[in-house]
Amino acid sequence: KPLLSVENVSKTYGNVQAVRNVSAIAYPGEVLGIVGESGSGKSTLLRMMNLEETPDTGTYTLDLPDTPGNLFELDRFARRMLCATKIGIVYQNPHLGLLMKHSSSGNVAERLLVSGERSFAILREKATTALDASEFPLDRLDAPPIELSGGMQQRVQLAKAIALEPALLLLDEPTTGLDVSVQALVLDTLKRLQQDRQITMVVVSHDLGVIRTLADRVMVMRRGEVVETGLADQIFQDP
Ligand code: ADP
Ligand code: ADP
Repeated sequence: KPLLSVENVSKTYGNVQAVRNVSAIAYPGEVLGIVGESGSGKSTLLRMMNLEETPDTGTYTLDLPDTPGNLFELDRFARRMLCATKIGIVYQNPHLGLLMKHSSSGNVAERLLVSGERSFAILREKATTALDASEFPLDRLDAPPIELSGGMQQRVQLAKAIALEPALLLLDEPTTGLDVSVQALVLDTLKRLQQDRQITMVVVSHDLGVIRTLADRVMVMRRGEVVETGLADQIFQDP
């Protein structure tokens, strides 16, 4: 049974149909890769999976305890609770995901507050563990993201996203804009995390190489529509 299931989702902005009748699934522990050119609707779809955006039509279910029915029908509070506890996201733009002038450990610790933990020392320790798992250099715990490289900023976002061990991890162009050598390092970290923790992931990228490296299941989008979908082994099979 899929962990994530999106069905017949459409979204129009003014006269732009950003997403048109898209359906997608990801089984537990799988990585769903969504690939397509800029403007094909990938980010819009990911923001819907993070319940930041509501489609005009369509349904979204996550097969988790206490999360029944179509999640697009949840009220704002229930959405925020679900995102705060079960879904992690890494944005392409670190400014969307991080407080750039707070310490890196503080950015991650803040995300842990919803767990009910109130000990500063324990929050910091748990934040450090998540940063370490994201291969963030632990001598930079107190550095604010604004003083860090793009690759390090992505690692802070990743630590924040996995700190509460979410059921679903969403990644929007996780390596775009990074130096090529750094891209490979971030990809290695993601691959290792996936293997160690079996988190269900959705990765959006315009870069086929990223999708080929990470995804088990692939969806190709063009102008808001799904033009091809299947297991990575089939999609990337040489003809
Ligand atoms: P991708 O992530 O594949 O680059 P997007 O989902 O960002 O694609 O965008 C799909 C289309 O929807 C584009 O034409 C984009 O300009 C438009 N779009 C996305 N978000 C908005 C928005 N908030 N308001 C208006 N148009 C939007
Ligand atoms: P990405 O590079 O991930 O596709 P974009 O740069 O297209 O993201 O969009 C970044 C933000 O701007 C998103 O929140 C999106 O909703 C918004 N956006 C994108 N296109 C438009 C648009 N044509 N009008 C208004 N907002 C837009």
